[in-house]
Amino acid sequence: MNRYDFRGTTVSERDVSLGKILSVPGETGAKYAWDTGAAIGRYLEGLKAGKILGIRCRDCDRTVVPPRAFCEKCFGEAVETVQLPDTGTVNTFSLCYVTWDVQRLQHPMIPAVVDIDGTNPRAGILHLLDRVHPDEVRIGMRVQAVWKAPDQREGAITDIMYFRPLPT
Ligand SMILES: [Zn+2]
Repeated sequence: MNRYDFRGTTVSERDVSLGKILSVPGETGAKYAWDTGAAIGRYLEGLKAGKILGIRCRDCDRTVVPPRAFCEKCFGEAVETVQLPDTGTVNTFSLCYVTWDVQRLQHPMIPAVVDIDGTNPRAGILHLLDRVHPDEVRIGMRVQAVWKAPDQREGAITDIMYFRPLPT
């Protein structure tokens, strides 16, 4: 796929009716939506298909996720999209007993940076861990993505509901 082939996400009437589109009142009637760009657009389209996509730089053999339009290490454009497994290793995590709006939680949310298998070290993605007791979470723990059902996916990082521990 040419890196400029991604079509983007079309603004739908549903998005407008739900108020997800910023409308500018007045003469133009212009409507705007956030554009994901070619690289992240490809990533989101992959998530909708149940795939984690990254890029591999042919010049410095570096693989990262999510995709970038170019390699920010060597600034080369010789990047190719690669499909990665949905497994990885916990790089770091936190136990959060308070929500973003200061509500106390009985069971903590566990945000974590997961280094996806096949990527270079310290190039992980931030997501949530679940189906693990807080006392058992460890750096280095092997985990796998738990996906929404295909017909529930929207092309968003939340198409992965959480990562759960792999059996040891
Ligand atoms: Zn590079």
